Amino acid sequence: MRLIDISDSRGQIRLDFAGCNMRCPYCVHIHRPMKEWPMEDIVEFAKSSTTENIYLGGAEPTLQNDLLELIRQLNAIGKKVILKSNGLKPDVLKKAFSYVEGFVLEIKAPHDDIPAIMELTGLSEERSKEYVELMHQSLEIARKKWLRIWIRVIPEYVNVDTMPHILPELKGASEVMLYQFMSNPEFDLPFKGHEEPVPPWSEIRALGEMVLPEVPLVRLVGSRGKTVLK
Ligand code: SF4
Repeated sequence: MRLIDISDSRGQIRLDFAGCNMRCPYCVHIHRPMKEWPMEDIVEFAKSSTTENIYLGGAEPTLQNDLLELIRQLNAIGKKVILKSNGLKPDVLKKAFSYVEGFVLEIKAPHDDIPAIMELTGLSEERSKEYVELMHQSLEIARKKWLRIWIRVIPEYVNVDTMPHILPELKGASEVMLYQFMSNPEFDLPFKGHEEPVPPWSEIRALGEMVLPEVPLVRLVGSRGKTVLK
């Protein structure tokens, strides 16, 4: 399997897989070097750890050929698996459903704004429209388990004017995480001229207050650290 990284710290084993079916212009992960790990070695790594929780992230884990087999094996040894995805492969989420604890899905922009989705994902117009449909299916599946929706707040796309178009998608999620763009240089490449954290924390907070009526918990993450609203 193609991995960017594997780690075991702070109560979580984290597997970051290489490769993605999007080309987001601010993504650092698709440029990171990868290494091949046999699935047996990953399962052994997990087995040798007392850590119960496993996060499958990356870039995009659903592209790995053996992902479902890996999830089944991790589940069989008593691990609690959380699967992150960009939502383009609801078929994989459906097959993984019985073997995972929950899902993490990213919403990038209002789904009625195809030009914004094209800019943010590098997908063609046709593929962006397809993405919106596939993402709806992914959300429908994931809402039946624990679900965190995370939103990278890039101010040109996610702001107090566009958030009302995103809110309907958030209903039924267990929590929403709002991430202040560029607040962690390890997560983002500069985009739209932003090289420092944006928008201001006061706007992240205002967006969090808008989201809170829709879900039980909102996490705000940025240069000011982490805040939970509930
Ligand atoms: S930001 Fe996420 S969806 Fe976009 S290219 Fe990177 S890993 Fe893929």
